[in-house]
Amino acid sequence: MDKEQLKKLAKNPKFISGIYNYCDRWCERCPFTSKCMTYALCENDIDDPQTQDITNKAFWDKLHEIFQVTFEMLKETADEIGLDLNAIDHEEAAKQEEQVRKTVEKQPYCRAAMKYTKMVNKWLDSNKDLLENKADELQTLADAQIPGTRPADDALKIQDCLEIIRWYQHQIYVKLCRAAGGLIRGEFEDNEYSPQDANGSAKVAIIGIERSIAAWGGLLHQFPDQENPILDLLVNLKRLLRQVDAAFPDARAFARPGLDTPAKKSPTRRQRSSKLR
Ligand code: SF4
Repeated sequence: MDKEQLKKLAKNPKFISGIYNYCDRWCERCPFTSKCMTYALCENDIDDPQTQDITNKAFWDKLHEIFQVTFEMLKETADEIGLDLNAIDHEEAAKQEEQVRKTVEKQPYCRAAMKYTKMVNKWLDSNKDLLENKADELQTLADAQIPGTRPADDALKIQDCLEIIRWYQHQIYVKLCRAAGGLIRGEFEDNEYSPQDANGSAKVAIIGIERSIAAWGGLLHQFPDQENPILDLLVNLKRLLRQVDAAFPDARAFARPGLDTPAKKSPTRRQRSSKLR
């Protein structure tokens, strides 16, 4: 897709502007795919395993195309606002970015989020047998068709909890780094936009943390013998949540386009005809 096609697509009124900026990118579970331009752009690629495979040329060709179109649009916007991209001191910009990165990594909530990703890996790695045995046990119960048991429901619940934990495991850290980066850049550059953007990213992280807490609660219900390690994970997640709430007190109130704001309803036939009178 070239620049002009992209611009034309962006003008389609069916899309909610910016919905993809503060979502969790879990398109498979998203009820807004028909209103999302990012989904429309990636839809064909999602079905094409070649463009999803980092070892395949198609993946790199696709990435090249995305970078090229992005650069063309960036240049066009820069020209419109009279910004000379060649005048940017790239060395100085890289130095500043490095400073931001180092400051971001020092934030207590970023450290806590990184610690959580490692704790999850450890739990999953050390409980492979437990999960496999549980799958066998549920399969046996399903085969035996014992009244009063619901092995299929239990299996689905466990699968759902594991998928949720896996989905947000790294995303919480990434979103918190982005939020911290926004705050820090805002301080460095007196940039008024960054704090709002930071709140949006922090909100996505908060949602991820809360869903992960619920998912670990679900696993605890299924694996009561895992009480100690799971409670440990939950304590860490709850502490992280308090840290994020303290660092971004306005994050929960941030209205994510389309996701927190009700989509505009199409006018009814009566409203349309009364407008014509
Ligand atoms: S808004 Fe929904 S469909 Fe669009 S990128 Fe986010 S998760 Fe995917």
